[in-house]
Amino acid sequence: MFGTHLFPGGIHPHEGVNGKKVNSGNAIRELPAPPRVIIPLSQHIGAPAKAVVKKGDHVKIGQLIGEAGGFVSAPVHASVSGTVWDVQPCLLASGVTAPAVIIDNDYQEEWVELTPSAHPETLSADELRQIVRNAGIVGMGGATFPTAVKLSPAQGTTIEKLVINGAECEPYLTADHRLMLEKAPQIIDGIRLMMLALDVKEAIIGVEDNKPDAIAALSSAASATEGITVRALPVRYPQGGEKQLIYAVTRRKVPTGGLPIDVGVVVCNVGTVYAVDQAIREGRPLIDRVTTVGGLVNNPGNFLVRIGTTVEYLLDACGGLQSGVKQLISGGPMMGMAIARTDIPLTKGSSGVLALGEEAMEPKESACIRCGRCMRACPMKLAPAKLDALARADRFEDAAKAGAMSCLECGACTYVCPAKRSLTQSCRTVKKVINTRRKQAAAKKEG
Ligand code: SF4
Ligand code: SF4
Repeated sequence: MFGTHLFPGGIHPHEGVNGKKVNSGNAIRELPAPPRVIIPLSQHIGAPAKAVVKKGDHVKIGQLIGEAGGFVSAPVHASVSGTVWDVQPCLLASGVTAPAVIIDNDYQEEWVELTPSAHPETLSADELRQIVRNAGIVGMGGATFPTAVKLSPAQGTTIEKLVINGAECEPYLTADHRLMLEKAPQIIDGIRLMMLALDVKEAIIGVEDNKPDAIAALSSAASATEGITVRALPVRYPQGGEKQLIYAVTRRKVPTGGLPIDVGVVVCNVGTVYAVDQAIREGRPLIDRVTTVGGLVNNPGNFLVRIGTTVEYLLDACGGLQSGVKQLISGGPMMGMAIARTDIPLTKGSSGVLALGEEAMEPKESACIRCGRCMRACPMKLAPAKLDALARADRFEDAAKAGAMSCLECGACTYVCPAKRSLTQSCRTVKKVINTRRKQAAAKKEG
């Protein structure tokens, strides 16, 4: 394909009919607000937000309920109007417990006064960044890195390109696809505003070529705007990985251990850009998002969901589960997290909730047959079988030296392994152990 570059490795996971994901024809429906929302104060990478409301307080939609806990952090806002039932720990999809503001909905739909920007082109980069920061926007593709931080490169750093991730390469997930179809003009406007905030002249939107309708909608919306191009990408998982996407559309390689900014690029997901547009144009903080409900669910689809809605409420609203469900997943089947309970809330990074059958069951693993498939599938050119062996021998430092810290946790190696070895999990364990050791060493040095 002209102008795009294939990253090494990658796979073609199964799902869909004739290359089309089953939910892609389902237009976004607004889910009625639940009677109670559980809004975690830590839904982003970085310091948790600090509660600024307490039990018994009345809140309006969009009201600040948690202020950012530092530079790399994000504020959180009420997604319903009503009364704060309590501020207490809740379980998240990741399995960790974090403080959350729990609000009982009074169904008055009372909003705080919003401050739209009629002429955002006249705002300075600092003012645009501040709006994004105050709106609590984080990477909505699942990374949840605070967007205002991405828009604030260190002095002396040059950003040349803004890359927009519309690949949505995980099976089942179609929330971004629907957003690109239904909100293309707003996405293009959001990109334009981000280009102003970053002072860049070029933006490239990467979309997998199994979404020709989304490519057409974005191309049409972008036709009058200079500097924004839409690039059709081959369907290949993990095409939406940050490093893979940058390579595909710019041919720049992010160095091992490096960041997109090291090659003059900032990457944002289409959902994030839409939220940026809403924040700047309408003054609207991030209180809802589009999420896909798929798999063995009676009425699957793509839903606009208030942040803090529980998985249970969402699944009930979708008509409940069909028989044969073996596993619920938060996110996509490749990189998502298995969830054992349904009382956990949807957060800013919740791209989907899937109810999977037999295909989700962990098959019994057997010994490695040294077939090399995992190596060929790895987009980071790692040797997953070797990393797995080192991890199982508790040789974490050796695994790190062999590249485990650059693992994307994309799941491609596990997917292709005929011996069904949990290769991705081994890399996750190495990363966790090494990161904990590094943090402990740093803390010891400081104190
Ligand atoms: S999970 Fe890690 S080791 Fe496995 S294919 Fe993806 S990047 Fe490579
Ligand atoms: S794909 Fe599985 S069996 Fe083949 S080399 Fe990798 S770990 Fe071994």
